Amino acid sequence: MKIKRLKLSGFKSFVEPAELRIEPGLTGVVGPNGCGKSNVLEAIRWVMGESSPKSMRGSGMEDVIFAGTAARPARDFAEVSLLVERPVGEVPDEFGVASEGEVEVTRRIERGAGSAYRVNGRDVRAKDVALLFADAATGAHSPALVSQGKIAQVISAKPTERRMMLEEAAGIAGLHVRRRDAEQKLRAAEANLTRLDELLGDME
Ligand code: ATP
Repeated sequence: MKIKRLKLSGFKSFVEPAELRIEPGLTGVVGPNGCGKSNVLEAIRWVMGESSPKSMRGSGMEDVIFAGTAARPARDFAEVSLLVERPVGEVPDEFGVASEGEVEVTRRIERGAGSAYRVNGRDVRAKDVALLFADAATGAHSPALVSQGKIAQVISAKPTERRMMLEEAAGIAGLHVRRRDAEQKLRAAEANLTRLDELLGDME
């Protein structure tokens, strides 16, 4: 999966709509301290489904919305869109779009209304977005997104945490989610069968 474009609006310091094209090859983000470099990386993690305000350097998820300055009022929403290109056969067609080609994932948060996700303009669940990225061996917690302090965190990680990183890199994190879902459905089916047996027993 290749990231081709990032669009931000009202996200942290990016109050005005901004568009960053990510061309093939190495992309560097440079600028003076506090200009918003880390906010770019956080926008990518956020649109991929990051749910921890702490890892977005905030105390609540609404802290990602532009908070205003002496000269500009605060915004009441933040929106980030990520245009990605999926190689042939990378992701199953679960979103009503072709299983290859360009996909635009959008996350929007409004004050007091929480987050909503869209894939190619269609409303989807947070879980769908997480799976889309997990199947492509990436996501909000991907070791490929290296933020400040991350290297020290990897060095001091517990073996189970390291294993999770390796599983994400190997692209099997999505399979764990699907397995949990399948197990839940299986338990529900077993409960239904037990209930059916009881009802049949009562009828005899
Ligand atoms: P450094 O090089 O020091 O690490 P940086 O370029 O990575 O800095 P960021 O940490 O991405 O900069 O951006 C910090 C800026 O973003 C600060 O000026 C901060 O005020 C601003 N900022 C963060 N959250 C918001 C918000 N919700 N509303 C408005 N501005 C915000």
